[in-house]
Amino acid sequence: MTMFSNGRHGITRRAAITRTALAIGAATASAAVRKAEAQQKITQAAAKYQGTPNGSNHCGICSSFQPPDACAFVQSPISQNGWCQLYTAKS
Ligand code: SF4
Repeated sequence: MTMFSNGRHGITRRAAITRTALAIGAATASAAVRKAEAQQKITQAAAKYQGTPNGSNHCGICSSFQPPDACAFVQSPISQNGWCQLYTAKS
């Protein structure tokens, strides 16, 4: 194994490449986790989401609503005036 040094900090080229690769891998893994989390939410169609209230029930008073425009279970964007079959009133 050949070692290279930059002469200032004693960091080998191999160490620098390894650190860069690890940083890229961590960033890629983080993006993959965010994508997986987004994909775990069900579609608006599956939840029978509608952009209008159902009587007095609407996303803004649902326990799953995440202001300003998200839901814990249904894919974004969600209107606070919308509604879906998963509606559960805040307690
Ligand atoms: S009613 Fe509740 S569960 Fe359904 S989309 Fe709105 S916030 Fe999400």
